[in-house]
Amino acid sequence: MADAPNTKFTRIPHPSPMNDTRREAILQDPGFGTSFTDHMVMAEYDADKGGWQNPTIGPREPISVDPACAVLHYAQEIFEGMKAYRHPDGTSALFRPEQNARRFNASARRMAMPEVPEALFLDAVKELVRTDRNWMPQVEGGSLYLRPFMFASEAFLGVRPARQYKFIVIASPVGGYFKKGAKAVSIWVSQDYVRAAQGGTGAAKTGGNYAASLVPQAKAIAKGHDQVVFLDAIERKWVEELGGMNLFFAFDDGSVVTPPLTGTILPGITRDSLLSLMRDEGLAVREEPYSIDQWRDDATSGRLVETMACGTAAVVTAVGEVAGRDGSFSIGSGGTGQLTAKLRAKLTGIQRGTEPDPHGWVVRL
Ligand code: PMP
Repeated sequence: MADAPNTKFTRIPHPSPMNDTRREAILQDPGFGTSFTDHMVMAEYDADKGGWQNPTIGPREPISVDPACAVLHYAQEIFEGMKAYRHPDGTSALFRPEQNARRFNASARRMAMPEVPEALFLDAVKELVRTDRNWMPQVEGGSLYLRPFMFASEAFLGVRPARQYKFIVIASPVGGYFKKGAKAVSIWVSQDYVRAAQGGTGAAKTGGNYAASLVPQAKAIAKGHDQVVFLDAIERKWVEELGGMNLFFAFDDGSVVTPPLTGTILPGITRDSLLSLMRDEGLAVREEPYSIDQWRDDATSGRLVETMACGTAAVVTAVGEVAGRDGSFSIGSGGTGQLTAKLRAKLTGIQRGTEPDPHGWVVRL
């Protein structure tokens, strides 16, 4: 993919980037989403001034907004989550970043927000990774997590789409997502709370979906589980996704099922990549509804051998145990199965430049 940026970012000098000693200490143990790099990219949109303007790269610092700023009242906000990886030759690479740009704009359309031109989105991400390349963690499994987001910045209290927005990209050095590392996770079935309904915003990456998931997620944690799994809003029967990951179910006959994209789940880029990798392996993968009762029955009978949770943050992680109101069940031995381990190694290998990239997913910087 051509890589020369078309966007000219005005550079605002950083008066005091973090010193090497402090940065190196953070990079030894980055955690997840708690530390941030020195810079951020910002662009502003004004419907009355002809669209996107003033792309800048400058110090990451607090931004001031008017108390009547639309996002604070009506939650017009979207975001993306993606990573830059260090390759063995020391260069940085992005994984399918154009997919994030497209999903960002799909989210924008659903939230009545202006689209960000794909070139601006991609150039903004690349500019930040290049500028803050000394923030790439060297630890095993480390990467630079990138958070592009957009919010309604117009000051007004009427309920209508705002006329002014800010698009910002920040970056955070990260290690693994789960404290347990790549170990199997335990999940709690949310029977009282739903995440999304048909016609709602479930397929958009917008803050409100995540706000709505906090209570069920907190309940899952309080009960000793790692994550919550949501069911469909009408029958409370069909398995949808976790708060931040899609699911795959692998059976003893070599077939695999994942819930279909019917508008209530986020179309994960890891999900899409795994579908391709599994089809490359000759596996029969079906996108079809799978019920919670079937899940329990198949796990109990042994027909279901693995369940995988997947997303940018945690890559591919085994689900070892599922618990809900009606009791709990284990999947396989409760650990990480063969297919999960194989796909995880394959996908991380492609992302990190140690495996061939047959689909041309990697964008080197
Ligand atoms: N579902 C939800 C609700 C998510 O927030 C995410 C993370 N973006 C995913 C699934 C996985 O998506 P991706 O593979 O693109 O990270």
